[in-house]
Amino acid sequence: MKASEIREFHTPGSGIFFRARRRLLSEKTPYQKMEIYETASHGRVLFLDGLVQTTEKDEFFYHEMLVQPALMAHPRPRDVLIIGGGDGGTLREVLRHPVESAVLVEIDERVIAACRKHFPGLSASFGDKRAEVVIGDGNRYVRETIRQFDVILVDSSDPVGPSAVLHQENFYEALKRCLRPGGIIASQAGAPLFYLEHLLEKRVFLEKMFAFARYYLGPVPTYPGGLWCYAFLSDRVDPLRRLRRDVPAKLKYYNAEVHRAAFALPEFLKETPARRRRTGTAHG
Ligand code: SAM
Repeated sequence: MKASEIREFHTPGSGIFFRARRRLLSEKTPYQKMEIYETASHGRVLFLDGLVQTTEKDEFFYHEMLVQPALMAHPRPRDVLIIGGGDGGTLREVLRHPVESAVLVEIDERVIAACRKHFPGLSASFGDKRAEVVIGDGNRYVRETIRQFDVILVDSSDPVGPSAVLHQENFYEALKRCLRPGGIIASQAGAPLFYLEHLLEKRVFLEKMFAFARYYLGPVPTYPGGLWCYAFLSDRVDPLRRLRRDVPAKLKYYNAEVHRAAFALPEFLKETPARRRRTGTAHG
């Protein structure tokens, strides 16, 4: 296919585009439409249902900030669960640590196969003997498993399609049951610029469920609005206290200063849905 322009609309009137040198893959899987393009500006780019999932250029912004704050806040993470994450980037970050096992539950085995072929920098860790891949629905897995984990990472796609269930309250209740005492959950939460109401509503139920339910932020240049929100959830671990010192080598984004800064939230993200309704700024 000759060079073309690939667009993702973030709003009816705005979005991001890439000039693609060539399309490496276009496939309708049982769960979603998957496309991979070679671009001059961002290297290879993975789309699911027309939405950017990851680019070789900026994937480390996202993967390091989803994984490292939880792993560095936990005193001794041995067993880790990853929900989603079929591109392998989250697994790679986890296995930088001396964990004993990392279970990855991905619903769409075609995503793993395609990323193992086209994203070697992301997917190399699938070959690590500590990695265990389960093909299936993450929501069902956490309901049925009897295994417990020190850290659980939710690397889902947007709250649409197969991933919608991974943003709901009862999914987090099931996750909590799989968490060992003193355990930590970190999950991608979404774009504060475009999904603010959703984020504020979600925090209401997360704060009821966990003693520490904290949002933190990090830039992801190719995601809607360029700024991404993550949730840090635990009953015992305060994300700003006693971080481990053994930061893995070769990180490109995360460090202890970035960690602390990420939890300093701007005013618009400190709001509550009730206050926004009272001040009439809801849907602002
Ligand atoms: N970082 C990306 C983002 O924020 O949009 C997500 C990347 S990762 C590719 C998302 C993965 O979640 C996809 O491979 C998708 O197939 C998987 N997924 C979606 N719904 C799922 C479910 N219910 N259970 C397990 N995996 C799921």
